[in-house]
Amino acid sequence: MKVKIDESLCEGHAKCMEATEIVFEVRDDDLSHVLVEVVPEEEEANVVRAVRTCPRAAISIEE
Ligand code: SF4
Repeated sequence: MKVKIDESLCEGHAKCMEATEIVFEVRDDDLSHVLVEVVPEEEEANVVRAVRTCPRAAISIEE
């Protein structure tokens, strides 16, 4: 699984980071950044949770 953030939608709410700090990091620019090239298998469920809870629907999954 790969994941990306649409920076034009992201508002830095950090719900994604609450779901997994291994995959997402909200920085001083108030944008979430993806920390991994490929999501570790054990983090996939957390990424799905992040997609569901992101209030801006800014996260998309690429299988
Ligand atoms: S939860 Fe969504 S809007 Fe908030 S920082 Fe993460 S990707 Fe951006």
